[in-house]
Amino acid sequence: MSVRTRFAPSPTGFLHIGGARTALYNWLFAKKNGGQFILRAEDTDAERSTEASLDVILDGLRWLGLEWDEGPGKDGPHGPYYQSQRTDIYDAYLAKLEAAGLTYEDEGAIRFRVPDKDITVNDLICGDVTVNLKETRSIGFDPETKTTLERNPDLVIKRPNGGYIFHFVNVVDDIEMKISHVIRGEDHLSNTVLHLALFEAFGEKPPVFAHIPLNLNENGSKMSKRDKGALIHEYIEAGFLPDAVNNYMALLGWSPKDDTEIFTPAELMDRFSMEGVNNGNSKFDYTKCVWVNAEHLKRLSPEDLNSNAAPFLEKAGISADDPRVTGALELARERAELLSEIPGVIDSIFTDDLDYDEPSIEKVQSISGIDDLMAALYRALEGVEDWAVDEIKASIKESAEGRGLKMGAYMLPCRVATMGSMKGPDLVPAMVLIGKEEVLGRVENFAELI
Ligand code: GLU
Repeated sequence: MSVRTRFAPSPTGFLHIGGARTALYNWLFAKKNGGQFILRAEDTDAERSTEASLDVILDGLRWLGLEWDEGPGKDGPHGPYYQSQRTDIYDAYLAKLEAAGLTYEDEGAIRFRVPDKDITVNDLICGDVTVNLKETRSIGFDPETKTTLERNPDLVIKRPNGGYIFHFVNVVDDIEMKISHVIRGEDHLSNTVLHLALFEAFGEKPPVFAHIPLNLNENGSKMSKRDKGALIHEYIEAGFLPDAVNNYMALLGWSPKDDTEIFTPAELMDRFSMEGVNNGNSKFDYTKCVWVNAEHLKRLSPEDLNSNAAPFLEKAGISADDPRVTGALELARERAELLSEIPGVIDSIFTDDLDYDEPSIEKVQSISGIDDLMAALYRALEGVEDWAVDEIKASIKESAEGRGLKMGAYMLPCRVATMGSMKGPDLVPAMVLIGKEEVLGRVENFAELI
């Protein structure tokens, strides 16, 4: 059987982390099995489904690298991939049910006669769920009279206004698009019995179902779009790497059954399996997600680090083509967890107008004999012939020891003088990048300032 999975978002203007995780699992499963990943816009709600609201989802998927084989912008043999353009297909399927006597009209709507028998979903993740639709759907509760009432269990598939409902079009499209595996959120598990009834009514073999447990927020309630980390566009702006977000999302509900936590996309594809998807809800942890990103930053090649950091550098006024950038990024990736934090770690290397942090100045001023120490530091640096890490360190060490001090005594004033703050990247490599002349100028300025 050729594997065909699909992601079928209703365009709402957001790509939520739960939806993105569903897309990722579908993508991984399809790619791993040499299959196809289809994207289908479930845009029958004309008011909410604008082109712009779908674009947000498409952009998010592209950013994550979850490219689809068929779908919007990528025509295939089973299109169109927008439900709003498939009415003729739905009409033809409705005619099949009508011909089989499985529908009837009810106050302008068309209802599907649900079968009176047990139907079992054999879910890959959640196990077996058995329901008799006639029985369960016949009980309703009237909140006004606070009584239970009989409700017509037969499903409305076409509204009086002519619009088809979700269950019907969802099943028709899964048949028409030859979907082999439906991997989606657990919130759709209860719909699946109904979907199976429709597959049977059409005389079609249903796909394999796998419902992914919910993703809860840090307080244990269902994650909403207001929770930090809920929306993919926030990750783009915050400076996450797409591979890191995929890595974290994979772990949000799937376990490789060992301690490995950091995966490249290729490793994820290799290790991912439906058997590893947990059947309990997952809990979103923003701090962990940031940690995963930091680990990916550390592992990027210098070229990839540069290209990923470039937009953030440019925004901070640092040209990504500056020859010092490669070295500076090596220092930054030891400190920054997000791409957006990188300029803040290294901007003092590039500036012509260093800003001094007030508490750091005060700390240096409180060192006894600081004026002499600054003068000695200046001389030590001035005497370095080959401006490189080992030579700078050796010269500072020699000067410090000549004054009966440890090298460390020079480092704080040297750091504040050259970087403007007590905090920052590894100092001596940063000084190499800044260059001898500029460092000497900064030390001189700082000595005057304090
Ligand atoms: N449009 C549905 C949703 O966004 C898709 C359900 C499905 O994957 O079958 O929840």
